[in-house]
Amino acid sequence: MAYYLEDQIDGLAIGERRPTINEYFLSSYSMAVYDGCEFGCPYCDGWAYRMRPFNETVRVATDLPLFAEQELAATDRGDLIGITALTDPYQPAEATYRLTRQLLQRLADCGQPCLILTKSQAVLEDLVLLERINQQSLAIVMFTLLTIDPYLSAKLEEKAPPPALRLEAIAELKRAGIPVGVAYLPVIPYVTDTDYMLSSTLHAIVEAGADFVVWDYLNIPSERHRARINEMIARIGTYPPSYYRDLYGNQALPDATYRADRDRELLARCDSLNLPVRAPHALYAGKLKPQNEAALLLKHTAFRDAVQGRIHMARLGRDLANRVYRGEASDTDLRESPLYPTLREILSRPSATAGS
Ligand code: SF4
Repeated sequence: MAYYLEDQIDGLAIGERRPTINEYFLSSYSMAVYDGCEFGCPYCDGWAYRMRPFNETVRVATDLPLFAEQELAATDRGDLIGITALTDPYQPAEATYRLTRQLLQRLADCGQPCLILTKSQAVLEDLVLLERINQQSLAIVMFTLLTIDPYLSAKLEEKAPPPALRLEAIAELKRAGIPVGVAYLPVIPYVTDTDYMLSSTLHAIVEAGADFVVWDYLNIPSERHRARINEMIARIGTYPPSYYRDLYGNQALPDATYRADRDRELLARCDSLNLPVRAPHALYAGKLKPQNEAALLLKHTAFRDAVQGRIHMARLGRDLANRVYRGEASDTDLRESPLYPTLREILSRPSATAGS
């Protein structure tokens, strides 16, 4: 069990508004409820940003909900808050401290849209709060899922809840009318990236009833992290050491050719299963600030353009999305996009959700 260090907040609870909208999580803010994560998955980026063992000491800022309440007074109601940053909001500490629940209560009191990223079915204990938020604006839950193989999952993330519990929780949230996505990440080369793995995982996601999926690749930002990854894959099997060296070189992400190949494979498989590869527009239409909605639509279209080789269109879409999000796009700029009629319609809507 981790050591819980009770503390006071030493900055902002919700934080600064993001300079660009997060297309995976639809978020204008990315916040963490705890500092550290007892699940301690070896591939987690959290290891790279902490000096002390990330899974052994969990810092609990008990005044976080109070600070969040104060910051919410000045937060636009059309900006979605992503509870997504480098710690699981439903790790074991939540059973004692209920910081996530207290935060959700504040979000429900003002109808602030939010997205929770977790690996734990304990999120179901807050279903009533999620329903309250979702009735007023939007509450999305996303589960991280790397594989449905319980044996492999135990090797990769032994302290996190098993995949079957996550899949059951997805189905239960869907029955309750809460939108649910799956973060299929990280895709781990040589371990979870085979066609068979992709197929079995995507089928299970569809069967559970998830609304959409996103994915990304294993990030290796430092040598220290590389050693941890090597240790992790050595627990699974004997892999040729040159494989990762060739694939990553000195970069944090696997090479662009590999990613393009897996992106195409994943996209084709999702399309054949009718599984959206980003949150579908209908899920957030009219529920966020018009600039956010338009920026997301542009970024999500740009992702598909990039994977399918329309590189110029992808670049144009992303650039325009960032300008729209910042409120800097003119009508002439918008006309550059094939989505112009839809963008015009979205952006001419009054910002009904804005203001506190
Ligand atoms: S559950 Fe998520 S935040 Fe926690 S260690 Fe695992 S990957 Fe990191």
